[in-house]
Amino acid sequence: MINNYFIILASGQSKRFNSAKQKQFIKYKNRALFEHSILKGVKSKLFKKIILVINNKNKIKKKYSKDVLIIKGGKERSDSSLIALKYIKKFKPGNVLIHDAARPDFSIKLLFNIIKNLKKNQAVIPYLKAKDTVKYKIKNEYYNLQRNNSLLTQTPQGFKFNKLFNLSIKNKNKITDEATLFINNNEKVKFIKGEILNNKITFKEDIKINKIYYGIGFDIHRLIKDKKLYLGGIKIPFHSGLKGHSDGDVIIHSVIDSLLGAMRKKDIGSIFPDNQKKFKNIRSSKMLKTVIEMLNKNNLYINNLDINLICEQPKVSIYRDRIIKSLTSLLDIDRGIINLKGKTVEKLGLIGKEKAIACEVICSISE
Ligand code: ZN
Repeated sequence: MINNYFIILASGQSKRFNSAKQKQFIKYKNRALFEHSILKGVKSKLFKKIILVINNKNKIKKKYSKDVLIIKGGKERSDSSLIALKYIKKFKPGNVLIHDAARPDFSIKLLFNIIKNLKKNQAVIPYLKAKDTVKYKIKNEYYNLQRNNSLLTQTPQGFKFNKLFNLSIKNKNKITDEATLFINNNEKVKFIKGEILNNKITFKEDIKINKIYYGIGFDIHRLIKDKKLYLGGIKIPFHSGLKGHSDGDVIIHSVIDSLLGAMRKKDIGSIFPDNQKKFKNIRSSKMLKTVIEMLNKNNLYINNLDINLICEQPKVSIYRDRIIKSLTSLLDIDRGIINLKGKTVEKLGLIGKEKAIACEVICSISE
């Protein structure tokens, strides 16, 4: 029978995390930071009990499985860890894994790997080799650590419960992980390969990475004689042009709406109202420029754009390269992230009779 326990430490003061809200309660991938670790622990089915150590346990309203216990932590990390170890002693644990809730992205595979290695070891520590060259300072002298010999340790860290308990009880020093206890006491530690994605969220900026937003845009304009046809910012020889307050460029208008959607900034009409004279006959490329400035101002960049141009004529295949080239330069992005598809409507309706052209766009952007 498994006799593993999982301690999740979430009572840190997050001094380096510059935010009014406590780091543990910040939403990351739609969940409080600590919740990722709880759910992975539960899903792995490796643990008899999962203990969340947190200072303001009253703030947790959500109900987890009955094997998840929530206890109050101490002032320092080592205090919280010891409180949890004392708390689970009555269960007579075999193995205990200790984990910092600030690392939400470890894999369940890593949990299995640690427990497997605990069969023959008393302490199992995941690590990565340092990518950067680390210097350290003693008084006013600087020293280099040899990069190949520098290990960056992660959590979860796995231990034989009794061994860790005895070392923790005796410990008087402030420690930042339990591996330190073993190393300081010349106890053997088994290092295993950690995970690159198992990053620690320390600064507010760490959480901003990876956010992706999607936006959708749609537009349709009537074709009328005696007007030039603009699609994707280029002039295309055709029997008619698109009617509209501006040049009627359905591709650019849809691109704009999709980008505004992804930015959660309403729609094209709220930014360029068509009852305003200054936008009359405006080239759509100019409107797009304004939207790109909004993107840049908010530190957002485009991941990709997928465009459906819906018309019988002109044939997209003839103009695809030129349209993509034009959008590439208007948006200042690589052409590899734009896709343009042509779609006819089997001669049905207004579009089928070449009386209108429509376009839809999906985009994805990131911070
Ligand atoms: Zn339009």
